[in-house]
Amino acid sequence: MHEFSLAIDLVDQLTEALARENATKVVSINVVIGAMSGVERVPFEFAFPQAAEGTALQGAVLNIQEVPLILKCSDCNQQTETDDLIMICPLCNSVSVEIVQGKEFLIKSMEVQ
Ligand SMILES: [Zn+2]
Repeated sequence: MHEFSLAIDLVDQLTEALARENATKVVSINVVIGAMSGVERVPFEFAFPQAAEGTALQGAVLNIQEVPLILKCSDCNQQTETDDLIMICPLCNSVSVEIVQGKEFLIKSMEVQ
């Protein structure tokens, strides 16, 4: 499962960050998942506690903030939020769009002990 290996990577990253901060336990983490990140929220929520088991992240509260896809169109020069995960401007149907937001998969913050 894709989300499971992502969860393991996340746990590894956080374990390293924890060592740098001389902390021993992660209380909670805030993760941002973009609509176009390719990460599914539900499988990730399922995978995280398994990946965290036996690490300093065991029992940590996982808070997920989902961010929508925002496209910027170079033809009509507008930024639009869209639920359709396609690279077409919803206003003028141009394909000259770039992603402003929505590809994120990152750790926004964490609370440690
Ligand atoms: Zn447009």
